[in-house]
Amino acid sequence: MSGLLAIVSGPSGVGKTTITRAVVDRIDDAELSVSATTRPIRPGETEGVDYFFKAPEQFDEMVRRGELLEWAEVFGNRYGTPVAWVNERLAAGRVVVLEIDVQGAAQVKRNRPDAFGVFILPPNEEALLERLRRRAREGEDVIQRRFAEAKREIADARASGAYDVFIVNDNLESAIDQAVRALQSRRGVPGGA
Ligand code: 5GP
Repeated sequence: MSGLLAIVSGPSGVGKTTITRAVVDRIDDAELSVSATTRPIRPGETEGVDYFFKAPEQFDEMVRRGELLEWAEVFGNRYGTPVAWVNERLAAGRVVVLEIDVQGAAQVKRNRPDAFGVFILPPNEEALLERLRRRAREGEDVIQRRFAEAKREIADARASGAYDVFIVNDNLESAIDQAVRALQSRRGVPGGA
């Protein structure tokens, strides 16, 4: 079966990471790309598993050498997708999933028009605010800023043309099912929606 480059994006607090990991688990030959980032490592994260953590100069060097398929600045840090690994896995016929932001997704779509974009939406704005509050890692001012950023990201996603499907996460299992079926269907797997 031929490879597929898939993008999953969504605002923070929407369940995007949970959905992405479940999709990769459910599709036998799918793998999650590990991004490079200049953001500091967080407790519980592992180098090479969650991210490749880079100093700003190392990241500059990767950009200069053309080693990134796309990159973007998100919340004051830079994030990018190492292109060599992606190309190798696609050539092996695998499904490669990128969990990246809207700016990055737009770059990927420009360079790889065959990429399949999935955007995860909250059921509504109140639910989004509620989820951001429940995470409660931050104070109310930070929560309000993330809320405003999330609304902007949703508007940008719709305007970008980078997404083939928008999935509303009002029920986690159903959102995962829809994402899996959308990818399978794109690959021509029977039973895909
Ligand atoms: P976090 O720092 O919370 O892990 O991620 C912050 C944001 O950066 C998320 O929206 C995530 O999707 C995005 N992101 C992670 N890796 C990449 C990447 O390689 N490229 C781009 N453009 N965005 C990324």
